[in-house]
Amino acid sequence: MADRRTRRDRHALDEDGMVVCNPRDREAVHRAEQGDIPTAERLEDVTCRKCLDRLTPEQRRAMRG
Ligand SMILES: [Zn+2]
Repeated sequence: MADRRTRRDRHALDEDGMVVCNPRDREAVHRAEQGDIPTAERLEDVTCRKCLDRLTPEQRRAMRG
C-alpha cells in the first residue's frame, strides 16, 4: 500500500497506552496492540517526528528509564 513510510515509523505510547501523535484515536491504539503500528519502548527507538515533538520531558525521562 501507499502507507509504507508511515508504517515504518516507530511511535511512542503515553502512560495511558495511547499513541502519542494520535492520542484520541482508539483505532490507533488497537492497531498498536495488534502490531500494525510499530511502537518503541525506548526514546531512541522512536522515529515518528510527531511523537518526538509531542513527548513531554517527563515522558522522555520515563522512556529512558
Ligand atoms: Zn507517532
